[in-house]
Amino acid sequence: MADLLQFTDRGIYCEAGDFYIDPWKPVNRAVITHAHSDHAYRGHNLYLAHRKSVPVLKYRLGDDIQVQSMDYMKSVSHNGVTISLHPAGHIVGSSQVRVEYQGEVWVASGDYKIEDDGLSTPFEPVKCNAFISESTFGLPIYQWKSQQNIFDQLHQWWRKNQD
Ligand SMILES: [Zn+2]
Repeated sequence: MADLLQFTDRGIYCEAGDFYIDPWKPVNRAVITHAHSDHAYRGHNLYLAHRKSVPVLKYRLGDDIQVQSMDYMKSVSHNGVTISLHPAGHIVGSSQVRVEYQGEVWVASGDYKIEDDGLSTPFEPVKCNAFISESTFGLPIYQWKSQQNIFDQLHQWWRKNQD
């Protein structure tokens, strides 16, 4: 079987289902992992995204975009390909995209975070045959402080401004 998802000059493409994931050039069908500007671009005919991403998508891209919204773990089928969204833990509404076709399952992570931030629905691993991992800051040169440490710094800054 050919790759279920492939990289193209427009974004990650599913030929069997004829849709793209987070395409950066205009396409007919775009599945959007989350509403950040480097993942959700203008100009697509139809957007599919998590329900909680829709208000930000419309705010950013215009009220007139055509969006089909979904909840986590629900699925839609298109050309025999089943698409479902699963929590990515990155921002509210952020989703991993699970694509299933003829028994083969691929997952495109989009941006994800495995630490629960108390705001986003926590990341859930999804069993699959192939996992496309987005890891912009995954290199060892990036060393992050603990989430609690960062929250404490934010709180201190807020307190200082309040005083
Ligand atoms: Zn993002």
